[in-house]
Amino acid sequence: MVNEEIVYHGRIKVPYSWSVGEYGSRFFYELKENKKIWATKCPKCKKVFTPPRKTCPDCFVPIGEWVEVGPNGTLITFTIVRYSAQIHPIPPPFAIGIIQLDRAETGLVHLIGGVEVEGIRSGMRVKPAFKEDRGGSLLDISYFEPVE
Ligand SMILES: [Zn+2]
Repeated sequence: MVNEEIVYHGRIKVPYSWSVGEYGSRFFYELKENKKIWATKCPKCKKVFTPPRKTCPDCFVPIGEWVEVGPNGTLITFTIVRYSAQIHPIPPPFAIGIIQLDRAETGLVHLIGGVEVEGIRSGMRVKPAFKEDRGGSLLDISYFEPVE
């Protein structure tokens, strides 16, 4: 009889599909078709959310008002990624930041590009660099780059 526990180490890959819902669909459609970034505005606290929220997480009321935000914004904070991983959209080094788009009060997480990573600073003004061939995802924006 064997008393040692045998542990098998493996990896599984799980393909999946996930509906982005009514609000997510409108958000991604506008990125793809019109290169516009839309948000929703709470009728009670007036907070503007992007990506859009269907219900205010602070007031718990339904949100029905849509407002266009950006395209420019302010880089609130960022980190530089210096290692490679299969899930990364581009090879390192690259920066990921939180961008507060003009007229929005929440942050959008995205890549920061068009500049050497050493030149990136919190507080810098940025604008989206849209891809020519867009498919309806957040990566229809290649990255946010410094405003000249
Ligand atoms: Zn609210």
